[in-house]
Amino acid sequence: MKCQHKTEAGECQSHAMNNEVFCFLHNPKIPLEAKREAQAKGGRNNRAKQPKPLDKVKLDDSKDVVALVAEIINCVREGLMDVKVANCLGFLAGQLLKAVETATFENRMDEIEKKLEEQQQVAEQMKEAARHN
Ligand SMILES: [Zn+2]
Repeated sequence: MKCQHKTEAGECQSHAMNNEVFCFLHNPKIPLEAKREAQAKGGRNNRAKQPKPLDKVKLDDSKDVVALVAEIINCVREGLMDVKVANCLGFLAGQLLKAVETATFENRMDEIEKKLEEQQQVAEQMKEAARHN
């Protein structure tokens, strides 16, 4: 059941507490001090811990990204990095790896196309030379 508290924006969207008509925040039986404490605690718990800025790392190729992911794993295992920060870095590392792989693939394709073109030109020249002989 939904909390019965009405706000200017409409009804409170929170679930009411067990056997109560209001949610924790709107329940008049809960002392204001307890509500404040719970909110402060929630705020603290929701914030990701990042005690000091991390060093900038080289992220030029897939080996760099793999090294970064390995470092993140070790940091989490040793309890040196907040899991939220690690999740964020892990996600971004995945995105970066995809982008790096795509860029590498495109470069390889360009090289192959260039070589193919060169070979075609050589073949044309040989054909031309054979016709004149
Ligand atoms: Zn409520």
